[in-house]
Amino acid sequence: MNLLFVTHNAHKAREIQSIVPDNLHIQTLDDVGITTEIPETALTLEANAHMKMKFVADLLNVNCFADDTGLEIEALKGEPGVFSARYAGEQRSSTDNIAKVLNNLKQHTNRKARFRTVISLWWKGETYQFEGSVEGEIVTDEIGTEGFGYDPIFKPIGSTLTFAEMTLEQKNQWSHRARAMEKLIDFLFLEMKNT
Ligand code: IMP
Repeated sequence: MNLLFVTHNAHKAREIQSIVPDNLHIQTLDDVGITTEIPETALTLEANAHMKMKFVADLLNVNCFADDTGLEIEALKGEPGVFSARYAGEQRSSTDNIAKVLNNLKQHTNRKARFRTVISLWWKGETYQFEGSVEGEIVTDEIGTEGFGYDPIFKPIGSTLTFAEMTLEQKNQWSHRARAMEKLIDFLFLEMKNT
């Protein structure tokens, strides 16, 4: 079965393809020829995930899901949160975003943070949401070259590695998105069993 993931991010799609059952093929927007940026202008992860999913569900009338992720840093009162992609400006540069986080945290000893992902699913004309999160800390310098986004500065509690030092399989054992995705997979499994 094909399921459309509302993203242009090939990293994310690979992460997700590696955790779903083999008979579920994850397609991205690029796979189905959609090159436009999907609007994500809402003020919460929940509303943004819904907005992205509904935009494509209305456009194509197919089952699909979208995710929205925020890095929530305790000492920065939850920033960058829903603004994680554009924290350092509209250029959406991970290098600039990381530099801004490290700079804003310079004076703080509390480096607690968490990643939170909300997935919105459009399935047979109904909407469903799933959430996953991982607690961790922001390290003082970038470490590692794998992954994307804030991975080089995020280390989950209990891990000696940042996300950017992990293989995809290792990251999936901890990650916010994998945890949300597991809930979506459980949902689909039950749905497919009952049809
Ligand atoms: P999005 O809204 O889910 O696309 O992500 C918002 C911001 O968080 C972007 O800057 C992403 O690069 C970053 N981000 C999302 N997921 C991850 C992750 O798993 N690791 C590191 N950064 C992430």
